[in-house]
Amino acid sequence: MNPQYSYSFNSGDGKNKALLGGKGANLCEMTQLGLNVPPGFVITTQTCLLYLENKLLPAGLLDEVHQQIADIERATGKTFGGASEPLLVSVRSGSAISMPGMMDTILNLGLNKQTLTGLIEMTDDPRFAYDAYRRFIQLFGKVALGIEDEKFDSHFNEVKRAAGIKADVALNSEQLQEISNRFLKVVHEETGKPFPEDVYEQLEIAIKAVFNSWLGKRAVDYRREFHITPDVANGTAVNIVTMVFGNMGDDCATGVGFTRNPGTGANEMYGEYLVNAQGEDVVAGIRTPKPVQEMAQEMPEQYRQLVELRNKLEAHYHEVQDYEYTIERGVLYCLQTRNGKMNAAAMVKSSIDMVKEGLIDKERALLRINPELLEQLLLPQLARNHHNQPIAQGLPASPGAACGKCVFDADTAVRLGKTGEELILVREETKPEDIHGFFAAQGVLTSRGGKTSHAAVVARGMGKACVAGAEDIKVDVRSRIAMVGDILIKEGDLITIDGSNGNIYLGRIPTIPPSFSEELKTLLSWADSIAKLRVHANVDTPETARLAASYGAKGIGLCRTERMFNAADRLPLVVDMILAQNTEEREAALAKLFPIQRDDFQQLFEAMSPHPVTVRLLDPPMHEFLPNEHQLLDEIDALKHYLTIIKGQRVTLETLAKPHELPAPFNRLNEEVVIDALAKKQMMLNKVLELYEVNPMLGHRGVRLGMSYPEIYRMQIRSILEAAARCVKQKTPVEPEIMVPQVITAQELIKVRQYVDEIQAEVESQYKLKLNFKFGTMIETVRACTRADRLATTAAFFSFGTNDLTQATFSFSREDAENKFLPLYEESGLLQDNPFETLDVEGVGRLMKMAVELGRKQRPDLKIGICGEHGGHPRSIRFCHNIGLNYVSCSAPRIPIARLAAAHAKLLEEAAG
Ligand code: PEP
Ligand code: MG
Repeated sequence: MNPQYSYSFNSGDGKNKALLGGKGANLCEMTQLGLNVPPGFVITTQTCLLYLENKLLPAGLLDEVHQQIADIERATGKTFGGASEPLLVSVRSGSAISMPGMMDTILNLGLNKQTLTGLIEMTDDPRFAYDAYRRFIQLFGKVALGIEDEKFDSHFNEVKRAAGIKADVALNSEQLQEISNRFLKVVHEETGKPFPEDVYEQLEIAIKAVFNSWLGKRAVDYRREFHITPDVANGTAVNIVTMVFGNMGDDCATGVGFTRNPGTGANEMYGEYLVNAQGEDVVAGIRTPKPVQEMAQEMPEQYRQLVELRNKLEAHYHEVQDYEYTIERGVLYCLQTRNGKMNAAAMVKSSIDMVKEGLIDKERALLRINPELLEQLLLPQLARNHHNQPIAQGLPASPGAACGKCVFDADTAVRLGKTGEELILVREETKPEDIHGFFAAQGVLTSRGGKTSHAAVVARGMGKACVAGAEDIKVDVRSRIAMVGDILIKEGDLITIDGSNGNIYLGRIPTIPPSFSEELKTLLSWADSIAKLRVHANVDTPETARLAASYGAKGIGLCRTERMFNAADRLPLVVDMILAQNTEEREAALAKLFPIQRDDFQQLFEAMSPHPVTVRLLDPPMHEFLPNEHQLLDEIDALKHYLTIIKGQRVTLETLAKPHELPAPFNRLNEEVVIDALAKKQMMLNKVLELYEVNPMLGHRGVRLGMSYPEIYRMQIRSILEAAARCVKQKTPVEPEIMVPQVITAQELIKVRQYVDEIQAEVESQYKLKLNFKFGTMIETVRACTRADRLATTAAFFSFGTNDLTQATFSFSREDAENKFLPLYEESGLLQDNPFETLDVEGVGRLMKMAVELGRKQRPDLKIGICGEHGGHPRSIRFCHNIGLNYVSCSAPRIPIARLAAAHAKLLEEAAG
């Protein structure tokens, strides 16, 4: 027996989003909840998959569709294809996960010459009927028959121009009829066939078009970008819904709303509406809509119905809803509702408020927020003291400030974005096909459209700054310019936009980092009380340590000491150390570095006190501190030239009877100084050649340096332990941890531990105290994973260096893979994700799990963390929680994300049982 291909809104299971899509399931749920939803039915996502597989609608589907339409006819008293009281429907896509604007929608389906007459009779409004007709022909032509908008638009504009009309609403019924006739001709010319008159044929074509849009480029790109895999959403459902009209007169309207303000999270009516208009007018931003508050005066009874609808929605869904409605002749219909996409600040505030209102519990308050969203809260804001005057203002559509070069189309944005340019995409309005431009740009500016226009919704979802509807800006994409009054902005000119207040400025304005709201602090404190994983920071300076602590870091999980070596006052000392000819010379250079390192560590311990600070001993290959060979050869060449000049001067002076005064700089640089410099550069070059390795990342680095040059590790260990001793003396609680990188064998660890033991004894006797610290290892080689039990005999903690461990597991060079072949691997599906970004659970994860098990078998209280980049990514954090890690460590800006993700990991683990 065939499966059931479709469900009426009265019978579909409102919880089954996988089968009915999010929109379809909601329409069922809303109908069964008693909301006034226009009658309709859903064709399932399974039917879509069957169609895409066989390139054929399954047998029996169209019979079901006839039956469903007959039911709607009965419910509405209208007839599909009927000469009087015609039934018109919308046909919309809708998959399990909302993909705004990614797939296609057709409105007013069921119009043909016969039903058009019926519609005129029924409404007594030929203008309205022709308007609906021309919209339908264009939309059907575009979506179902693949005819470009421009083909229709040129006729539309021609008729308007001939009639001397600017606004669409000024077109009369004759002009709209003329447009409809022209559109019918366009379809005939473009497809070689007349426009389909049979309404069931229209419906069949439309259903197929929606199914096909699942595999359209836009939809595929969107799914890849947002990691929407087939197990999350597979195929689109088709929703067929009775049309209700918001454009039948002044007692009609159409609007969109949020149950709370999506910009701030405030618990208030929010939205926009247009009287005498159709839904697409609001969403496409063709007319600028009015704020919903005005409806209270203009249509008080309908406003009351709207408030009631909003309250019912939140009470039922326990979540902020983004809904669409139409008022037809005074009656309010709810067309759709879905969970509202809000910016991070609004999500946080509404979470806190809804807990206070008793609408949700704390766990739900945490789980409803995608951790990645919190990154927005660390978005740049414009410096408060700047004195620039805005050249124009639009609507504050998505918060944060952005600065970049103007670019007028998405393709150019992508091209320039690849070269590292910062860009602002400037458009009259944006459409779903511009999506790649959003990814490439820092911010988006449009001259038309409201806060719920495409540009606003998409930018908010991505956390990018957006100013929409800046009507004073005239964008001319053809000439690649924009005009604000008589100010000319050319492509490539720098502008700054402030998505928090809608201001637009010429040039670059400095930005300041945002601060943490009290609400965010509360939310994250709830997260901390649930999470098992602690969150540490990867930082190496006291300033970043303090910043990390203010974001809630409970320790430093990785201090890369080489970053301390790179500062301008230390590098010459480090170079001396590297150039040393023997141990004595090296020790002399190290003796100069020692007090600097000790003070660095002391400041770091103080900044993070009383939390643990994990200091990693030197890791990178030594050549990284020296200039490269080409640079040195150039410099040596220059010095040799210079030496010849100085020699020439000397010869000149000696040759002249009366010596002349030389200009000041030449006085100081005599031959001796230049010869010294030349000798030093030559030594550096020799060292660079001596240190040369074909593959330095797999070469003389990490603990291997500690084996070859014990004095370097000894100096660092002494710095750490003396810094700790000084903190103890001044009663600053510290928890230092000494971490050894790139370890492959327990013997390496035992050797470093010996240095530690000797130095500990010396420092303790020098400072007359006992030191408390931990000694441990990074786990970033495959061998370390397989020998973890042995390593745990010496190490009291492990920290997974998943950057190197990923490199080692894949045998991919960290330096090259990401801009050479990895994009191809991802695009062609050879790899699901970039393993340097998202932890490869199946491969690297398996090794980690083995290391955890082996390590804890040897030492049950072994402390284990992660400090590779993955430590700040929610999906990886979940895995770390599941294999029993104690902490994750990440860069400072990702700490709030990691704290929330750690709570999610715990809550979702419990939910999974
Ligand atoms: C790692 O390898 O994951 C790590 C944290 O070390 P680095 O990136 O400094 O090599
Ligand atoms: Mg590493």
